[in-house]
Amino acid sequence: MNVDVLVAGAGPAGLAAAIELRKLGVADVVVVDREHQAGGIPRHCAHSGYGIRDLHRLMTGPAYAQHYRGAASAAGVTLRTGTTLTGWPATGCELATDAGAAPARQAGTITATLTSPAGVENVHAGAVLLATGCRERPRAARLVPGSRPAGVMTTGELQQRVYLHGQRLAGRAVIVGAEHVSFSAMLTLLHAGAEVTALVTDQPWHQSFAAFRLAARLRWRVPVWTGTAVAGIAGRDGVSAVLLRDDRDGSVRSVPCELVVFTGDWIPDHELARLAGAALDPGTRGPAVDTTLSTSVPGMFAAGNLIHAAETADVAALSGRHAAAHVAAYLAGQAAPAGQVALAGQAAPAGQAGGRCVPVPVMVAGPLRWISPNAISPVSPQPPGGRFVLRSAAFAGRARLQVRQDGRLLTSAHARLVPGRSIRLDGRWARHVDPAGGAVQVAVL
Ligand SMILES: Cc1cc2nc3c(=O)[nH]c(=O)nc-3n(C[C@H](O)[C@H](O)[C@H](O)COP(=O)(O)OP(=O)(O)OC[C@H]3O[C@@H](n4cnc5c(N)ncnc54)[C@H](O)[C@@H]3O)c2cc1C
Repeated sequence: MNVDVLVAGAGPAGLAAAIELRKLGVADVVVVDREHQAGGIPRHCAHSGYGIRDLHRLMTGPAYAQHYRGAASAAGVTLRTGTTLTGWPATGCELATDAGAAPARQAGTITATLTSPAGVENVHAGAVLLATGCRERPRAARLVPGSRPAGVMTTGELQQRVYLHGQRLAGRAVIVGAEHVSFSAMLTLLHAGAEVTALVTDQPWHQSFAAFRLAARLRWRVPVWTGTAVAGIAGRDGVSAVLLRDDRDGSVRSVPCELVVFTGDWIPDHELARLAGAALDPGTRGPAVDTTLSTSVPGMFAAGNLIHAAETADVAALSGRHAAAHVAAYLAGQAAPAGQVALAGQAAPAGQAGGRCVPVPVMVAGPLRWISPNAISPVSPQPPGGRFVLRSAAFAGRARLQVRQDGRLLTSAHARLVPGRSIRLDGRWARHVDPAGGAVQVAVL
């Protein structure tokens, strides 16, 4: 089968991108999702808080997902659920492993393998958009010692059990984490009939809004235990207790509970990008993307929480729309792919051999963990929504961020740094980046 654009992932980013591609006149847009219903994570987030920046209204997660499903169908997007993009076959697939070796673009040269109950098939696409989102790091990957009883889950699993499968969850619960999603997990647990003993975080403060913290304490009588790490989980068939270590004095105590929910600590679902040989960003751990959301593989773009794990759904949807404009331009031959932007009618800038102009990398220094997008495209330097998104590993009340290239100050801005919380940086400075210059550096003073 040949298609113009194949989108992997029918969450807010993938659906918003597909709708925009159709609006831009791209004829054949196919979105695949491994789940049996399109809509991504919002399908099982029953609370309100969706749609503000992209749809300019406040909606619950399921209503938001339904809106995007309806809009995609109305726009003429082909939705294929229960279908997983499982890889890129070795033949018929021109995937570059690095920018220097990138082949010239030819429409219809990316071949993807789709797996569904109907079998395995190859699809040839003019361009591919990866919008596979992110997931929370599970208990096993956090190396928490102890037994492996039932009752340990992530927020994603919790919400699927409660809101998609209608399960009741009795017993006492301890929530690991104290960021926005952790408070969301608290509400889900209470809704499901559990009693929440506490939220615990190894950080010195919680990482969410003061209002959430206050509401947890006053309305639901749920404390947040800071400076507290999980030292182990006990139980045979089911959880019987969680062992908590106080990082201030090293003491360990056993807190009886039947449920432990690990929240936050997001990992992008980058498997497809990795299999394609796309460069990964060491900070975000998703595919490296420039401001057009192009990866290092020609014709392959990425959007949503795959490139910034995890932002809100409206930010993911807006990044999908942003990617769509560049995918459409790429298909129309208006933009050259990442890593091999031809400088038509111009001499190659200094330091760029063969008339090629590579995106300028953007690097962060500690305590900053990552920035997204992580390179400036010389073709279109504006990031999605005009803003870069950053994360910090440490708290700072009023930090000063400075952006420099080769010592030249491009901008400076004040920001409050909270681990796990979004920092947004106005991206107008990107227009002043010298495409022939060195990497852009973002630092905290
Ligand atoms: C508990 C919780 C509460 C939240 N609350 C809010 C809120 O109040 N407001 C808000 O704006 N945001 C909220 N969010 C965040 C929001 O849900 C995400 O930002 C948003 O869903 C990200 O969209 P996405 O399209 O990038 O990824 P996702 O929604 O994760 O969608 C990715 C899709 O890709 C599919 N997929 C992955 N790999 C493949 C593959 N190989 N082949 C086919 N399909 C694949 C998945 O099945 C999935 O459907 C919350 C998140 C959580 C977990």
